[in-house]
Amino acid sequence: MSKLSGKVQTVLGLVDPEQLGRTMTHEHLTMSFECCYFPPPPGDEAVAVDPFHMQHMHWLRQNPYSSHENLLLQQETAAVHDELLAYRKAGGGAIVENTTAGIERDLPALRQLAKDTGVHIIAGAGYYVDCTHTEDTRKMSVEKLSDIMVSEVLHGADNTDIRCGVIGEIGTGWPITESEARVLRAAAHAQTKLGCPVIIHPGRNPAAPAEVVRILQEAGGDIGKTVMSHLDRTIFDHGELLEFAKLGSYLEYDLFGMEMLNYPYNLVVDMPSDSQRVKTLAFLVKEGYEDKIVIAHDIHTKNRLVKFGGHGYSHILKNIVPKMLLRDISQHQVDKILIDNPKHWLTFK
Ligand SMILES: [Zn+2]
Repeated sequence: MSKLSGKVQTVLGLVDPEQLGRTMTHEHLTMSFECCYFPPPPGDEAVAVDPFHMQHMHWLRQNPYSSHENLLLQQETAAVHDELLAYRKAGGGAIVENTTAGIERDLPALRQLAKDTGVHIIAGAGYYVDCTHTEDTRKMSVEKLSDIMVSEVLHGADNTDIRCGVIGEIGTGWPITESEARVLRAAAHAQTKLGCPVIIHPGRNPAAPAEVVRILQEAGGDIGKTVMSHLDRTIFDHGELLEFAKLGSYLEYDLFGMEMLNYPYNLVVDMPSDSQRVKTLAFLVKEGYEDKIVIAHDIHTKNRLVKFGGHGYSHILKNIVPKMLLRDISQHQVDKILIDNPKHWLTFK
């Protein structure tokens, strides 16, 4: 793997880690989230089929998964192109586009976006959550799954020569299914071979991230080179958060810009506001984890694009960074979170 060692692999080829600059570690530029459609609240069926009007914007923010149309981010590549130009203008350098098999990864589109906008795009290898696994995927052995992920990084994926630069997001639910556990073990094996970064989508239970780490560790995975996504909707208790942080993965707060009252996939949780997310970051920094935090928006529906009244890919750079500085996270620490931590994570061993 000497060719990859010390480099970051983008959809346009290998780059020097120093070239990345500010990096969002969990985004989608083109994908379908149809797998996770959620029926609209009773009485809202008419809005749900025709939601893109000014008077429905609040409804869409509260019910983003209840409109089929809203789940088809892959239809908005032109808008995403413009937003990436704006992201660069706002000081952004790179984006980890961790769409995996099951939610319609589109590597040629990513390559074109990278060429046209100058944003470094790092693509994801592997598989999303169980309900998107094909019969073929379910039948595969850990070795076979691992071989495919290795090949997606070394040779290219989806019958193209476009190579992935990270494994994941590997999707898991709660409880973790047999098929998901096999994919996790395969990811760990591939990581051992490649020395590559891994990123995980955990199930919606406070115990889920630690269980994923246990499975990865048992299979030889490098937890220090693994990002645990979506902590903002998963672990709410500060004591539990510190327990998890001790396991050594990167801690990702990646739903910035998403504020909703009733999170349909787990109605009992209180989805934090951006202010609360920043407070949690400040808490983790105070506890000594400034080298372990990474952040992003995880844009995965149309309504979060600027085109549809959403916050877009520059929200963190424009609105969250000033708030972080106001909450006693220093500029040096902000730079670690946006530049150094993603860089170290993404560099092949
Ligand atoms: Zn995601």
